[in-house]
Order: sequence, then C-alpha cells, then structure tokens
Amino acid sequence: MGKIVIAIDGYSGCGKSSTAKAVAKDLGYTYIDSGAMYRAVTLHFLNNFVTLTNPHEIEKALKSLEITFHLNPETGKQETYLNGLNVEREIRKMNISSKVSEVAAIKDVRKELVAQQQRLGKNKAVVMDGRDIGSVVFPNAELKVFMSADLLTRAERRQQELLEKGDIVDLEEIKNNLSERDRIDSSRKESPLIKVSDAIEIDTSNLTFDEQVAQIVNKAKQIIEKEKSYAGNHR
Ligand code: C5P
Repeated sequence: MGKIVIAIDGYSGCGKSSTAKAVAKDLGYTYIDSGAMYRAVTLHFLNNFVTLTNPHEIEKALKSLEITFHLNPETGKQETYLNGLNVEREIRKMNISSKVSEVAAIKDVRKELVAQQQRLGKNKAVVMDGRDIGSVVFPNAELKVFMSADLLTRAERRQQELLEKGDIVDLEEIKNNLSERDRIDSSRKESPLIKVSDAIEIDTSNLTFDEQVAQIVNKAKQIIEKEKSYAGNHR
C-alpha cells in the first residue's frame, strides 16, 4: 500500500478520533490524536499551576514535557503518556475539556506541538485528526477531510462515550462545552479551525459509523492508486 498523509479536522465531538482510528486500521497506517496532545499539555499546566498569561512559566513547563503514545496490549488501543505516566483516562475528563481550548490558543503551545506532530508524520502513512491538521500541520496532505455534525447528535454521542467510561455527565453541560470549544477554536488568532478549500466535507449527523469510515477509506484508496500510477509513469 502506498503512503499518504490523511488530515481530519472538524468540530468537537463529531467522531473524528474514532473515525480516524478505524481509517488508520483499515489502511495499516499510524493514527495520531493531536487533540490528546493538547489535552496532555493542559493536564501538565494544571498539575504545575502554570499561569496561562505568564510566558516564562509556559516556556518552562513546555521544556519539562514529554508526550508519547503506547499501545495497550490488553485493549489493542493507543494510550497517551505524559512524562512516562499513563494519562489516557484523566485527559478525557470534563475538567480538562473545559480548559483545553484556552491552552490550545497559546502561540508557544501550538508552536511546540505542531513541530512534534510534523516529526511524527514525516514518514507519511499517518492519519492525524485535530483542528489545524490540513491548514497548518500538513498543508500538503494528499487527503484532507472536514467533519461536522449537528450539536445535539455530537453531545449525545459524547455523553454515551463518557458513560461507557463510568462518568455520568449532564447533556446540557456537554452541549455547552462542545459549543464553547467550537467558539474558541474557530475564533482564535493562532491557526483557527477552518475548512480549507481542498478538504472534502463529511456531515456525519445522518451517517452510520461504518459509512463515514468507508467514505474516507475509499477516497484514500483512490488517491493512493493515482499516486502509484503517477510514480509508475515517471520512473
Ligand atoms: O480532539 P479533541 O476534542 O480531543 O481536542 C481537544 C481540544 O484541543 C480542542 O477543543 C482544541 O481546543 C484543541 N486542539 C487544537 N488543535 C488540534 C487538536 C486539538 O487546537 N490540532
């Protein structure tokens, strides 16, 4: 299978991560959850009482930070580690969700994480999801997808996910968090969430999970085939 970069951006909670994971599995690619990296930085800042308006504290905290991903052999799922500690569960909690967009709007945070993401994807064969993947991290990605879904659908799906992890959260609280994150992510100065002109848009409100995965996998396979025949003709 040829190697391309697949960038999946879109609003909070519209199933980007689970879709990206399934696409990566189908193609034998690596999945990278860029949102988990912003969440891990947020946890690190909270643990170290970093003042978000103090550039020196931010710089110091970013220097003492290492984010890695490791496969859990029992579940077969990739989990996020912060300075060697498994933080996968902690970074999905509401206290992180309610702070992460503020942290992600900080220029130095984005500079550091974008550089790390570009290193992780330099050999291609990756599916990365986030908010600025097609616009900033991989502007030359061969396939760019912009995912959306209506707010209620997104909130209900997220509530179910949290419930499966044992967290009972009010639907209104989730709706408010999703729309507030969308507002901050779309209006921030540093690489705001936008739909780039070369992205294909997928509204998942009325699609099943398998349908949304299939749409992206089929498109990816077409592009991979095209790249292969182009490479063959130019040998
Ligand atoms: O993808 P997820 O919802 O876990 O991302 C959490 C938050 O991290 C987003 O609401 C956004 O503020 C930030 N983020 C970002 N750029 C990315 C990925 C996530 O700003 N590439």
